[in-house]
Amino acid sequence: MQDLLTEIAEAALANPDRGKVATYIPELAGVDPGQFGIAIATAGGEVLSAGDADVPFSIQSVSKVFALALALGRVGDQLWSRVGREPSGLSFDSVLLLERENGIPRNPFINAGALVTTDTYLSGSPPKEALGELVRFVRAAADDDSIHINEKVAQSEIATGHRNFSLAHYLASCGNLQASVDKVLGTYCHQCAVEMTCRQLAMAGRFLVDSPQMPALVSIERRRRINALMMTCGHYDGSGDFAFRVGMPGKSGVGGGILVISPGRASIAVWSPGLNRYGNSKLGTEAMETFARRTGWSVFGVSRDGGQGDL
Ligand code: GLN
Repeated sequence: MQDLLTEIAEAALANPDRGKVATYIPELAGVDPGQFGIAIATAGGEVLSAGDADVPFSIQSVSKVFALALALGRVGDQLWSRVGREPSGLSFDSVLLLERENGIPRNPFINAGALVTTDTYLSGSPPKEALGELVRFVRAAADDDSIHINEKVAQSEIATGHRNFSLAHYLASCGNLQASVDKVLGTYCHQCAVEMTCRQLAMAGRFLVDSPQMPALVSIERRRRINALMMTCGHYDGSGDFAFRVGMPGKSGVGGGILVISPGRASIAVWSPGLNRYGNSKLGTEAMETFARRTGWSVFGVSRDGGQGDL
C-alpha cells in the first residue's frame, strides 16, 4: 500500500496537466497548484501517506459531510422534509432548480442544500456555538484537537459570496431557512473554511468506514445513507463520472480535497488544488481512479483479476 501511494503521488506531482485553481474565493486563488497529497486510514488502524499529505488545505465542500452528520444528529429524518436526496446534474452553486422545486434543494451536498443543513444544525443557537460543535465533531472524528477554521478564508468568501447569498435569500423567500440569511451564510462560510491536511482528513473520515475499530459517531444506518449520498451527489454534475471511474463514495471541495470511503476497509483523502470542469480536483480524481484500479476496491463488485484486493 505504501508503495502504491508513493507511486501515485510521484506521478501526480510530475504531471504538467493540473487543472485550474478556484479563484472565486480570493483567498484560495493564490494556492500553489503544484501540490499533491494522499493519505489513507485503514480499518486496521494504520495511517499511510505520500506527497504533500501534511500540508493544510481548505476542505470547503468536504465539510458538507460533517455538517450533514451534525444536522441529522439534531433533527433526524425530519431533515428530509427540507432537502432532497437526488443528484441535481447541475453545478454545485446552481440556482436553476430552486424556483421550479419550491425552494427544496435536491440534496445536502449542493450549495443550496448545504445552506439548509447549516441552518438545521444552527437551530437557533449563536453561530459561534454551532461552529464550536462542528469543529468538536471533526476533531473527535479525526482524534486531533489542532484542527481549526481559517478565519481569512471564511471572511474572503463572505465578502464575495453573492451566489450563495442569492441562494440563501431564495430559500428564505420559500420559508426554508429559520435563521437570518447573514447568520446562515456566515456559519456556512466558516464551516467551509475548516483546514485540514490529507492525513487529518483521512482520519476524520473514519466514522464513515463501518468497522469496529473506527469512531462510532453515527449509527450504522446513517453511515450507509451518508455514503449513499456521497456516491450519488458528492461530486455534483461529476458524480456519475466519479462513480464510474472510482466506484467508491466520495465528497469533493473546491479547495481540491476529496474524501473517499471504502466501506469496511479505509478512509482515503486526496488533495491537489487544480480543478476539472466540474469543480472537483483533477489530479485527485485521476489518482483515485488509479488507486481503485490497482487495489480492486469498489462498492460495485469484487475484482477477481487485475486489482489486488485487500493490499
Ligand atoms: N464554500 C464553497 C462555496 O460555497 C464550497 C463549494 C465547493 O467546495 N464546491 O462556493
